[in-house]
Amino acid sequence: MDTLSIKVNALEANESFLRSTVGAYASRLNPTIEIVADIKTAVSEAVTNSIVHGYECDPKGIISVNCEILNGVLTVEISDTGKGIPDVEQAMQDFYTTLKNEERSGLGFTIMKSFMDSLEVFSAPGEGTTVKMKKQIA
Ligand code: ATP
Ligand code: MG
Repeated sequence: MDTLSIKVNALEANESFLRSTVGAYASRLNPTIEIVADIKTAVSEAVTNSIVHGYECDPKGIISVNCEILNGVLTVEISDTGKGIPDVEQAMQDFYTTLKNEERSGLGFTIMKSFMDSLEVFSAPGEGTTVKMKKQIA
């Protein structure tokens, strides 16, 4: 068993904290700089979504990050218990965003999908969202 679990409040400052922490955890497998950068970017997108969309920037919200390394593969699960996504398939489409007026481009899921080997999204309105991503490292 090789796992890591973290719970933090939905604060902007925790976006860089979680991004760096998961990057550091993955580093035990001696990944290339490029692979670490990909993982950090994907984590950053998922955490930002939980803060901005899931909790609408309410820092009382809790973000859970669960990681596992197994057979050279990193699995990262990022969860919130925020507002949830009514239509996951639609939300995952390129350029789809529900925050058009702000500086959102609707590419977060697109980035997670292209930077990681796999991406699964589980969500229900009022229950929250879990993003599960995998990346082969070693
Ligand atoms: P960008 O990531 O480019 O800044 P974005 O966040 O709108 O823009 P995505 O990250 O692709 O784009 O997410 C698409 C949409 O899915 C969001 O606009 C939002 O409606 C919904 N969404 C994503 N993550 C969550 C979440 N954790 N909780 C609730 N809704 C979410
Ligand atoms: Mg996003």
